[in-house]
Amino acid sequence: MEQGSEWVKRDAAVVWHGFTQMAAYADNAPIVIDHAEGHELVDVDGHRYIDAISSLWVNTLGHRVPELDEALREQLDRVAHTTLLGNGNRVVVELAEALARVVPVDGPHFLFASDGAAAVEQALKIAFQYWANRGVEGRSSYLAFGGAYHGDTIGSLSVGAGGFGTDVFDPLRFPVVRAPGFGESGCFETTAAMVSEHASELAAVVVEPLVQGAAGMQLAPLDAFATLADACRDHDVLLICDEVATGFGRTGTLFASEQCGLRPDLLCLGKGLTAGYLPQSVTVASQRVFDAFLGPDLGERTLYHGHSYGGNALACAVALRHLELLEERDVLANVRTRAAQLGELLDARVAPLPAVGEVRRRGLMVGVELAPAVDGLRWGRRVCAAAVARGVLLRPLGDVVIVMPPLTITADEVTRIVDVLAAAITEVTSAEVST
Ligand SMILES: *Cc1c(COP(=O)(O)O)cnc(C)c1O
Repeated sequence: MEQGSEWVKRDAAVVWHGFTQMAAYADNAPIVIDHAEGHELVDVDGHRYIDAISSLWVNTLGHRVPELDEALREQLDRVAHTTLLGNGNRVVVELAEALARVVPVDGPHFLFASDGAAAVEQALKIAFQYWANRGVEGRSSYLAFGGAYHGDTIGSLSVGAGGFGTDVFDPLRFPVVRAPGFGESGCFETTAAMVSEHASELAAVVVEPLVQGAAGMQLAPLDAFATLADACRDHDVLLICDEVATGFGRTGTLFASEQCGLRPDLLCLGKGLTAGYLPQSVTVASQRVFDAFLGPDLGERTLYHGHSYGGNALACAVALRHLELLEERDVLANVRTRAAQLGELLDARVAPLPAVGEVRRRGLMVGVELAPAVDGLRWGRRVCAAAVARGVLLRPLGDVVIVMPPLTITADEVTRIVDVLAAAITEVTSAEVST
């Protein structure tokens, strides 16, 4: 017997996996990872898998990058963590300075946290208190988009559009002004009108620039965002860009906001910030926002918020070296070349399959929407299982198969991913399509 099944048993006995029905976990042939090499994960039995979801969208340069490992070891010889509440840490300062040179925010200031949801939560609270500090009343609501996903804490869940089985929490979600989803026609014109109508109650608009990832890669046209930015500026509503998924090169520029021409008041970063090494996120505030919090020591203008591990030194050391490597290795050029190749291959080999409804992609963010004729076929899950059996790790969002390889993926690996995906779709769906 392979060791894997033994590990799955031990795993299922004690580990509670997120977004996973534990009664079915062990039966869904999960793999238990032992180690990784570059873009490949190796399970406890020595089977290898291309990490084609970048470990749930966080990994950028592959695993066990020598330079990042080294940066982490060096930081260990200084200190692993010290609190940022009221005191500083050298590597945090260095990272913030490096980020300040590249983020699309004017006069940026960095409030670190650990998860993307926490970065969003911080942005929501900062936007709310910004108006309170300025003595403006009634600015206590948010406008968020249909299909939005901003994380799983109560605040981030509230601005999110729901779904993913989270309906049970609806009574806990605070109400927001809900704009259409990116996929709906006239989305941004409608949104601009809503901003105008609700301006006096809005603290901020929250948006995922360019791609709504968790909605199954819903895309918006580049020029649509100018309409949104204009509406926010004209009506003095803060703009929060959630680039937890799109940040750090995913869409071919360091930040998707750059392509959209957005310079948000608040920017949320996470996932790729540490190259997929360590949990770290950050809320970036513009000078204007930051200044509204200045006042007397211990006074009410202070932001009374901060996480224990915010600005973790190990995570910052990796994030700092990661920023340098993105540049040194010209990773964005690879993203653009590989994205073009991936697009061509998907158009030729996957989009024409009868089971495929639509392929949506921007940079190295891809959603292949399967179109089952009836509910309950679990095509998404079964196609991904068939891909895993062929050595490519994929995970679906419903019936959308997500392909999100590391940014340093090679031409051969892209070809292999598409070969396997096409074979997996054909294997799972051909019998059911023809009936
Ligand atoms: C993943 C994600 C989040 C939440 O990040 P976590 O680290 O999982 O809390 C927020 N916003 C977007 C756009 C995301 O893709």
